[in-house]
Amino acid sequence: MQLVRQKEQKPLFRGVRAVGAALLVGALGAACAGPAAEERPAPAKPAAGQQPRVEGAAGALDAYVDRVRKARAARVAAAKKWGLAQPPLEAPEPPRVKPRITTRKGFETKGAGLPPVFTTVPTKQKVVFLTIDDGAEKDPELLRMMSELKIPYSAFLSDYLVKEDYGYFKKMQDAGVSLHNHTLTHPYLPGLDYDDQKRQICGMQDIIQKRFGKRPELLRPPYGNYNQDTLRAAKSCGVKAVPLWAAEAFPDHMEWREWDRDLHPGDIILTHFRGKEDWKGSMPDMIRRVMKTVTSKGYAVAKLEDYV
Ligand SMILES: [Zn+2]
Repeated sequence: MQLVRQKEQKPLFRGVRAVGAALLVGALGAACAGPAAEERPAPAKPAAGQQPRVEGAAGALDAYVDRVRKARAARVAAAKKWGLAQPPLEAPEPPRVKPRITTRKGFETKGAGLPPVFTTVPTKQKVVFLTIDDGAEKDPELLRMMSELKIPYSAFLSDYLVKEDYGYFKKMQDAGVSLHNHTLTHPYLPGLDYDDQKRQICGMQDIIQKRFGKRPELLRPPYGNYNQDTLRAAKSCGVKAVPLWAAEAFPDHMEWREWDRDLHPGDIILTHFRGKEDWKGSMPDMIRRVMKTVTSKGYAVAKLEDYV
C-alpha cells in the first residue's frame, strides 16, 4: 500500500485522490499478488462535473502503473544478475524538509555552532545510508552494480588514494554519487595542531572542488577521530556536518556500534573501497553481504544528501 500513499501525494492527482488510489490498487493488484479482481474495491464514483479530470488522471495513472511495473521488473532482473537474494527495497520519498541534526550525546566537543557529529540521521522511515571511504579499490564492477541496482551511496575520499585515478570517481559522480571529504592523507587528526588539520581538511575541500566541480559539505575524519580543532577547521572551509557510522560492512560480516547489534531507522553504514587483497572478497561481494542484511531487516538504502 506504500505505492498508493506515495501516489496520493502527487499534485497531479490532487482532488481525485480516492479514485486514483482505487484505480492504482486495482491496476497493480495483478503485478503484486494483491486481491483478486472480484475482491478489489470498486473505484469511487466521482462527483458530478469531475468526469473529464478523472479520465485524464486515469490515463496518467495507467502510464504510472506501467512505469512502476517496469521499474519493479528491472529491479528483480538486476538483483538476479548481481546475485542478490532479494531485490533492494525502494526508498520512500525523502522528507520535504531535512531533519535537524544534532551532535550525538557523548560525541560533543566544546564550542557552539560547530558541525554536528552523528552516527544516525533522525528519521522514522525504515531507511539506512551507505557510505564508502578512502578510495583504494577502483573496481568498475562496483559502478555498474550500484547503477543497475539503483542503490544510492556517498563516497568519502582521501586524496592520496583517489589521485591515482580521479577519472574513476568522476564516473561515480556522473552516476549520481556525492563525493565528500576524508582528508588529504588520512592522518589521525587529533594528533595534529589546528593549522595542520586545516591543511588536511581544507586542502581536500579544494581538490574535490577543483577536480569534481563541487565543494563537499560533509567530512568524515579518518578512524572517526576528531577534536574541537577538527570541527573548527572543517567549518572554516565549508563543511556542514560530520557523519560517522552506526555499523560497518565487510564482505563476510557486519560490525555494530550499538549493543543490540541491529540496524535502526536512519543508521549510517560505513564500508570501504577495498579489494580481495585487503579483505575476504570483492566490492560486489561486500555489497551483496550488506544488502542481504539491509533488505532482510526490511530497510531501504536512501540517499544521505536527501536528509543531511
Ligand atoms: Zn578512512
